[in-house]
Amino acid sequence: MHEGTHGIVEAQHVHQPKPNLLSRYRKWIFPGFLLLTILAGLIPGQKALLGFDIALVPMLLGGGFITYNTIIATLETRRITAGLLVVIALIGSAYVGEYLAAAVVAFMMIGGEFLEEITLEKTRNAVRELVRLVPETALVLRAGQWVEVSVEVVRPGDRVLVKPGQRIPVDGRVIAGNAAVNQATLTGESMPVDKGPGDPVFVGTLNESGALEITAEKVGEETALGRIIQVVYEAQERKGPTQRVADRFAAYFTPLILLICAVVWFVTQDLMRVMAVLVIACPCALVLATPTGVVAAVGNAARRGVMIKGGAVLELAGRINTLLLDKTGTLTLGRPEVVEITAFGSATADQVVTVAAAAEERSEHPIARAIMNRARTERASWDSADEFVQVFGMGVQASVTGHLVRVGNRRLLELGNLTNAADGQQFLEEQERSGRTALLVARGSEILGGIAVADTVRPDAAEAVRRIKKAGISQVIMLTGDNPATAQAIASQVGIDEVRANLLPEDKLKVVADLKAQGQVVAMVGDGVNDAPALMTADVGIAMGAAGTDVAVESAGIALMGDDLNTLSEIFSLSRRTLGIIYQNIWVFAVAVNAIGITLASSGWLSPIGAAVVHNVASVFVVLNSARLLTYRSDRALALRG
Ligand code: ADP
Ligand code: MG
Repeated sequence: MHEGTHGIVEAQHVHQPKPNLLSRYRKWIFPGFLLLTILAGLIPGQKALLGFDIALVPMLLGGGFITYNTIIATLETRRITAGLLVVIALIGSAYVGEYLAAAVVAFMMIGGEFLEEITLEKTRNAVRELVRLVPETALVLRAGQWVEVSVEVVRPGDRVLVKPGQRIPVDGRVIAGNAAVNQATLTGESMPVDKGPGDPVFVGTLNESGALEITAEKVGEETALGRIIQVVYEAQERKGPTQRVADRFAAYFTPLILLICAVVWFVTQDLMRVMAVLVIACPCALVLATPTGVVAAVGNAARRGVMIKGGAVLELAGRINTLLLDKTGTLTLGRPEVVEITAFGSATADQVVTVAAAAEERSEHPIARAIMNRARTERASWDSADEFVQVFGMGVQASVTGHLVRVGNRRLLELGNLTNAADGQQFLEEQERSGRTALLVARGSEILGGIAVADTVRPDAAEAVRRIKKAGISQVIMLTGDNPATAQAIASQVGIDEVRANLLPEDKLKVVADLKAQGQVVAMVGDGVNDAPALMTADVGIAMGAAGTDVAVESAGIALMGDDLNTLSEIFSLSRRTLGIIYQNIWVFAVAVNAIGITLASSGWLSPIGAAVVHNVASVFVVLNSARLLTYRSDRALALRG
């Protein structure tokens, strides 16, 4: 089987078992049997009737099961694990002849784990919901015919037909047809997007109208949805800092409890009290506290098209106090348009455009696309360039029919030595004052003219910034490679009061590093390739519009598949809520319950059986508490969605 499809295929099998009665109830058999034999042990006179105490059966089976698992776990981790406390308690109970008590303790431990397992299933459903979005079959062109094949055999390059009402089976590009596609599952945006030839489409999104013929570009695990699913799986394995604290805590915890037991034994000589302490003190709730919260929150985010790469990122996101937003493509649409072309000296406006187009043709920068669009609508023809160089944060350089052509800002061109420098200077100043990005086009040592482009601010940007501030992020700063005048004009439109302009990619990185050095917890939001270093340096790098781009996703801790800026404040709220729930889990259900339980147990108020009950109730509460994160939405989001 093809490597790339593995993740999704496997996951699909996970959610489609052929359920037969035995397999569905198999996991109930063992705890059920233990419970029955325990109940039988309660029947008066059973011992005389059978010649032995039937409570021995659940004690040996349940206790043996727990002891075996604990020994394996201890050998594997080479550390004192919490389960050892329970094993000691079991052996102690058996030794003093309290078979029924030992059986109940064993049953509680096994039953509790079972309940946790069932509750955790809910979390896994989050992934299954996503997996279910992938169609099982696809209509593929084979030898001139549309053939329905399993989605697993579709390969990049295949032509796929998607009819109205169907979900798109691969990531690809439209070749023919027009349709409204609902991408809510991936981007959280519920308005359908119009798709036509050349537009990208993504697996799991819904074709609401019209037939689309597409070329498959990515399949299976490589797709945007496939990567989200992968990240949710991985969240179950990675450990955040809080998790490690809990682990370390557990390591000190066991010796401490053994010490308390020794004291209780020394003072009271009551073995039952010692065993009650051992049972209550097993730190299961503590061990569950963090991973259950992380998995639920990551699942919640995944359903909104947000990829959070693990617990460590989630924890940092909950503590962010400084947010850096890149201007182009993040606060603006990143689709600048040419709004002004001025020729200097003997040059003509047509010349300015064609020379610029020749140099920009191979650039991927949004500014380059704006210039190329203009050149194409004017039906200009241009020479092709050799030796093209993109100078990040400055512009482009290329060799066109033997001339060095440069298109860029004043950092790229040292104005002093060039012809028409005064005109160029004036053009830059005028355009920038009105909030536009101004570029000069130079051929050899002559500035031919200037091109001004303007980008549209995202309609939701101002509202998103307001919510981010309201979500408790005190410092919001706009970063841009653009000049200060343009930058300031945009910043005041969206309500950001701090601007750092004229930044090269490495300067953006330095801003991030400096703020971190001042002790701030910094998140950086960006979209482009040139933001990647800053995204990696930030405590939390957030990539926008990630469904289409790979680079930003690799370097970011959080990736928004869509480009809805309002998702940002929701993710910060979710992260904070997650930290809150994890601390509740630790301090209320683990630490407080344990402290009270140990006090009661050592003073004889709590029997080993009672201790087992309390202990497991606490663990189940932890799991239920964390499960609340699965459905969490910030209040404002609720109010808006109605
Ligand atoms: P931002 O931080 O706004 O995303 P970039 O770092 O991508 O900006 O670019 C910064 C500046 O460099 C632009 O405002 C523009 O002046 C110049 N520039 C970058 N790429 C190009 C290009 N392909 N053509 C012309 N100018 C460019
Ligand atoms: Mg950018």
